[in-house]
Amino acid sequence: MIEKVLIANRGEIALRVIRTCNALGIRTVAVYSDEDYNSSHVKKADESYHIGEAAPAKSYLNQEKILEVMLASGANAVHPGYGFLSENDDFARLCEKNKITFIGPSADSMNLCGDKMVCKAAMLKAQVPTVPGSPGLVRDAEDAAKVANDIGYPVMLKSVYGGGGRGIRIVTNDKELHEGFQTVTSESIAAVGKSAIIVEKFLKKTRHIEYQMCRDHHGNAVHLFERECSIQRRNQKLIEQTPSPVVDDAKREEIGEIVVRAAEAVDYTNLGTAEFLRADNGEFYFIEINARLQVEHPISEMVSGLDFVKLQIDIANGEPLPFKQKDLRMNGYAIECRINAEDTFLDFAPSTGPVPDVTIPAGPNVRCDTYLYPGCTVSPFYDSLMAKLCTWGPTFEESRTRMLTALSDMYVEGVETSIPLYKTILNSEEYKKGELSTDFLKRYDMIDRLTEDLKKEKEEKSDAALAAAVIHSEYFKSRAQNGGTSSATWKNKLD
Ligand code: ADP
Ligand code: ADP
Ligand code: MG
Repeated sequence: MIEKVLIANRGEIALRVIRTCNALGIRTVAVYSDEDYNSSHVKKADESYHIGEAAPAKSYLNQEKILEVMLASGANAVHPGYGFLSENDDFARLCEKNKITFIGPSADSMNLCGDKMVCKAAMLKAQVPTVPGSPGLVRDAEDAAKVANDIGYPVMLKSVYGGGGRGIRIVTNDKELHEGFQTVTSESIAAVGKSAIIVEKFLKKTRHIEYQMCRDHHGNAVHLFERECSIQRRNQKLIEQTPSPVVDDAKREEIGEIVVRAAEAVDYTNLGTAEFLRADNGEFYFIEINARLQVEHPISEMVSGLDFVKLQIDIANGEPLPFKQKDLRMNGYAIECRINAEDTFLDFAPSTGPVPDVTIPAGPNVRCDTYLYPGCTVSPFYDSLMAKLCTWGPTFEESRTRMLTALSDMYVEGVETSIPLYKTILNSEEYKKGELSTDFLKRYDMIDRLTEDLKKEKEEKSDAALAAAVIHSEYFKSRAQNGGTSSATWKNKLD
């Protein structure tokens, strides 16, 4: 039985895992780098251990060091979160070898899922539809060009080891293909030390729709509905929602059955996600399995009423799933906005540094998973994701308007955030109507619209701010005349 969990991660996901462990009476062990000695996950865990320098390779990716802490602390399980070692089958195997429960799929299954080509081949065998493309790896750029000319440009070059939007490129002709081949190769080598490339037909005006899957060690498998993650930048998700506006009950069941087959095809255990692209003609094509807890899992928790980390722990403990597919009902509508520390106007470049002040939204049906606290720091060494702001409503419209309120309530001092962009997107007619596609931002000129919105807001604000400043200065003047002391902080704010 899992009694003490080491969380091999940082940031909001480390806190997320700690919360469920606390609720279940399981002790927690945090690990941290030089950069993170003051981070929230260190403060919240029962124990914490320093594991090295700021650079991930010297700390959060250091398997030997993390194993050392597991053995020293007596943790009998590890939760890898997402990113870092979460999809590293060598690490899962290292844990298995040391009799430490890895909360996730088996090392073998993870190895299968981690290679986009091997996984695609397994899916083809299980009659799961996949995106048309090269039958296997392409040897070199020449070989890739031959495939591209056969299936027709544009095509997508993908490193089979890529992830998080890295190691993939769209190319539209032979010249771009040769350049793209080099970029994908070097990106993949930089990230994981190796590269192998497949070619896929590039699907235009497509939606990213993924299914949460769940399978125990006794062969029971279900899907926990879909999430639509079509609002992306650089092939990375920004806003997710469930249900998808284009998936009705019949479609949910149809694809859901395919997802269960997919999980069985790779002998997947624990929670995972099967990602699909939905072409404009309504066809679904499998793209990959994410063999871990997904960033956007909270919205599925909101509509299913389940705690996914608890479910992960129960499955890892060998317990059978407590429900069957027919017992599961989807309730209401949920949206997640990934609050990133980045500058929308600088091509989403990371924005890092101290955060002197922060306001976390609250209220009915609002959930904000975050590592932020006043006085914390957004580090340049790690992911730009600071917070996951989620809202729920009995109707899509209510979850959308609650999200707009929550976005307005959220304030992060010191860094640029994606909040203004999300307000523009959520207010757009296209978003309201559910006209989503992975090129949404470009297709509907969202950055230009954001510029317009900010200009308008600035004009309105400057009038209001002027009026407020006059009132405040009169107030402080009268307090000073009456012998009262005004706090230096407040005075500074007014200056
Ligand atoms: P999700 O759908 O859960 O967001 P992503 O593929 O976007 O999955 O990845 C989640 C996080 O994991 C990303 O924010 C990224 O930081 C990290 N990540 C995923 N794959 C890689 C990789 N190959 N190299 C570095 N970081 C990665
Ligand atoms: P990663 O491992 O980085 O998550 P994926 O294969 O899941 O890579 O693809 C990430 C995103 O890239 C998708 O959500 C989609 O927007 C886009 N994409 C991937 N494959 C294709 C394709 N064949 N055609 C069009 N877009 C694609
Ligand atoms: Mg993906």
